[in-house]
Amino acid sequence: MDTTITGRFAPSPSGYMHLGNLLAMLLAWLDSRALGGRMIFRMEDLDPVRTKEEYARALAADLAWLGLDWDEGYPDPAYRQANRTALYEDAFHTLERMGLVYPCWCSRAQRLAAASAPHPGEAVHDPGCRCAHTSAAERAARLAADRPPAWKVRVPDETVTVIDGHYGPYAQNLAREGGDFIIRRADGVYAYQLAVSVDDMRMGVTRVVRGRDLLSSAPRQAWLIRTLGGTPPAYCHLPLLTGMEGKLSKRLGSLSTQLLRLDTTAEALTGQLAWLAGLLPAPEPIAARRLVELFSWDKVPREDIAVNETAAGL
Ligand code: GLU
Repeated sequence: MDTTITGRFAPSPSGYMHLGNLLAMLLAWLDSRALGGRMIFRMEDLDPVRTKEEYARALAADLAWLGLDWDEGYPDPAYRQANRTALYEDAFHTLERMGLVYPCWCSRAQRLAAASAPHPGEAVHDPGCRCAHTSAAERAARLAADRPPAWKVRVPDETVTVIDGHYGPYAQNLAREGGDFIIRRADGVYAYQLAVSVDDMRMGVTRVVRGRDLLSSAPRQAWLIRTLGGTPPAYCHLPLLTGMEGKLSKRLGSLSTQLLRLDTTAEALTGQLAWLAGLLPAPEPIAARRLVELFSWDKVPREDIAVNETAAGL
């Protein structure tokens, strides 16, 4: 195994896995294994409000059922975000010492959203926030008397380009397109963007494979990692599964692996996923390990994948 190549599973145990999660896990695993790399499994149970132990156990069982193995991580408690607060705090203080952190008293809805990864339709920044311009005196007075603030990191007016392994160069001006973002919520929970960056850096992750809805987060994560003194991983985003409007596909698209497992085999499901991802000409049953030699990002479509007519065999 080439230990200089490290991929990761990083699911959030806030529900059972559905087809889209499974496709991301399969491609993350294939990407690393095809390069002879290792795989770590980090449980992103950062948010105590949205995560459940039952889901964490189910996620791990589903990956094992599909034959997607890992070399390090769950159930090791060191790979659970809930146990890594001291590391996030450390990074927070580093940013604070650089003068990049300030309190924000904007809406509660915004703070709650900040601990989870932004998915389509969710705002990634708050253009109305004026907290960066609060005077030192007002800040001190509010810190003493007001409700606890969330904490934001101040981003530079700088364009960061991430060369995505599947979508190519993706450029974002941090200040103008993303804006300052929350790194710690008012309830003390560290935000997704900080935790994921610290973890990828500290765990030596070199390859991040996940859905394209997180592509717009990659520049700020690469910037955070560099600012904290690390080297950003390579990012490869994959298309999303769409077209789940029809009755059948809606059911299939949202079906949890737990339910799929009742009437399909791991090989049949893997074959369906591999077909959707362009790795097989037909949805034939196949074991995940047999896909390793067939895997290439060139085969995976860039446009989103419609599930409706294709997943009917599930
Ligand atoms: N835990 C995130 C999610 O389940 C994924 C984070 C990532 O891959 O960066 O949406």
